[in-house]
Amino acid sequence: MDIPTLKINGKDLQNLISFIYKHEQLLKEFGAVKIQPNIDCQLALKKRRKNIALCPCTETIVRINKNEPVYLAQKFDYIDNHAKQASLVTDECSFWSSLSCSSNEQRLVNTSLVPNKSFFSEKTSRLYFDIHRLPYQSLLKLGGTKVTRQFVPCVKRAFGPGAIFPMTSARQRLFSIDYHHEGGAHHWYIVPTREREILQEIIDHYKPSMCLDHGQLLIDPLILDKNHIRYHRVIQHPGELVVLSAGALAQSFTEDASWSESIAFALPSWIEEGHASVSVPRCQCNISQDFLPEIIDTSIFRPELIQRYITSHLNVTTDDESLTLKGS
Ligand SMILES: [Zn+2]
Repeated sequence: MDIPTLKINGKDLQNLISFIYKHEQLLKEFGAVKIQPNIDCQLALKKRRKNIALCPCTETIVRINKNEPVYLAQKFDYIDNHAKQASLVTDECSFWSSLSCSSNEQRLVNTSLVPNKSFFSEKTSRLYFDIHRLPYQSLLKLGGTKVTRQFVPCVKRAFGPGAIFPMTSARQRLFSIDYHHEGGAHHWYIVPTREREILQEIIDHYKPSMCLDHGQLLIDPLILDKNHIRYHRVIQHPGELVVLSAGALAQSFTEDASWSESIAFALPSWIEEGHASVSVPRCQCNISQDFLPEIIDTSIFRPELIQRYITSHLNVTTDDESLTLKGS
């Protein structure tokens, strides 16, 4: 089943966090929602973009074992010249079947992530949507600049059809939002956070202690179906936003080359439902200490501060409809 799609007007986009908060039940149920900005929405986009010089990271996708369509992303120092890129990906079916057929070959993920880059320009009028502002509008603002300055956008580049963004989730089980700038549509598969344990058990069965969070895995939806894991699909086109719920896992592939970017943020439930403080055993991913984000101290998010934040920032009524909702 596809995740729900919400339309947003210019006014609500200016306070996107509050809009997401209003629809949090949907977000929680599906693990994600898609948001389509109306024609009246104004975005603070840079005029000159794509000036980032990039090459695809040297990661390939290999099958975990002969029988099951579960794939590992592995870094190779040497990519052999025959490493395959998917030639024609027109739909979901052709993507997974071409992957499944090429089990003995190296297949490039053909994507790159560029942290701390953005195609949104800062310091524009508040009337224009700028992704940099989201962490500051979100619950993270209670942590002051010491916390919010850690949250910067990350540009995501897909170099061609069938490029792969393996499974990840936002750091410390935060929420995140992804804006598609241009290029081929993204096919997402989203696993809500409550399915994590069972998914981990299933994956452990193929390979013990695999990490679900750091771009190590790509799982054919057949495996999810077979094991009754609840997940949702969505196809994201340029100009659309995908919002991921706290701790949701997401993987995607692209129909063609594309640019997108994402950033993390928090809603009160990140603290109130314990996502922020889940103790996670240290994974075996080879992430250098410099790139490992600090753990955010959750004791600064005291209940009375959260309540005050909700009152002053989230329960902002902008129209009659939300007034009636508030009373219900
Ligand atoms: Zn990991």
